[in-house]
Amino acid sequence: MTIPSCPCKSGRPFAECCSPFLEAERLPDTAQQLMRSRYSAFATGKISYLKETLWPKYQPEFDFAATANWAAENHWSGLDILRVEKGDAGDREGTVLFEAKYLTGGTLKTHRELSRFRRKSGRWYYVEALPEA
Ligand SMILES: [Zn+2]
Repeated sequence: MTIPSCPCKSGRPFAECCSPFLEAERLPDTAQQLMRSRYSAFATGKISYLKETLWPKYQPEFDFAATANWAAENHWSGLDILRVEKGDAGDREGTVLFEAKYLTGGTLKTHRELSRFRRKSGRWYYVEALPEA
């Protein structure tokens, strides 16, 4: 039996990477861990996790159906973390620049985003996409 590797392409087993976050067994320590686990949530259709890890003020606007459709329509084929600033266990804020690769209708596309993360009451949240400096 092969051990499934994590959808976030960390090279580690899913059970030792993003799965404990998606199953609410652990909280991510860093913004990058949250970023990776949110990508894995897209890849595995764990839409509730995407809402729960969104900055609380924005959660009421979260479009569950549209996000679920977008997640299901695409084949999530890879994640590259390009740059991380702050976002460590002791920080309150951090940014992660990433490229998510996905196949849609047979075409490989890239979603590149500079994401802003903030920590509140010991939990990291995704806040928004920033313009790339
Ligand atoms: Zn992972």
